[in-house]
Amino acid sequence: MSYDPSNVFARILRGEIPCKKVYEDAHVLAFHDINPQTPTHILVIPKGAYVSFDDFSAKASAEEIAAFVRAAGQIARDAGLDQPGYRVLSNMGRDGHQEVPHFHLHIFGGRPLGRMVP
Ligand code: 5GP
Repeated sequence: MSYDPSNVFARILRGEIPCKKVYEDAHVLAFHDINPQTPTHILVIPKGAYVSFDDFSAKASAEEIAAFVRAAGQIARDAGLDQPGYRVLSNMGRDGHQEVPHFHLHIFGGRPLGRMVP
């Protein structure tokens, strides 16, 4: 699947639509989900044009991957989630029910999340 530059996260990266930003560096942007599923629900995206986790894991540089993982952990700590705990998730492709075709991690927290289903 080729990258569609009209997807909503590409538009957020270009500043065409607003977001509630929580973190930004050279490689990463993070912002609150517009439709939060938990009291804290943050989306972490790379600035590079990667469709999905599969695409990112195959094509991103070691520097981009390291920056992304480091940022995600820092964002969760800065949100105060590291002690109670949280969940990190990336939906991928059709069966993973990915809606926005720009790779993103969800960080869910702020309440007990229960057992992962499925
Ligand atoms: P996916 O199903 O692709 O893993 O999740 C996409 C997420 O993006 C959903 O949780 C949805 O609420 C969020 N989302 C979709 N459009 C926007 C938007 O314009 N702004 C923000 N902040 N989140 C969005």
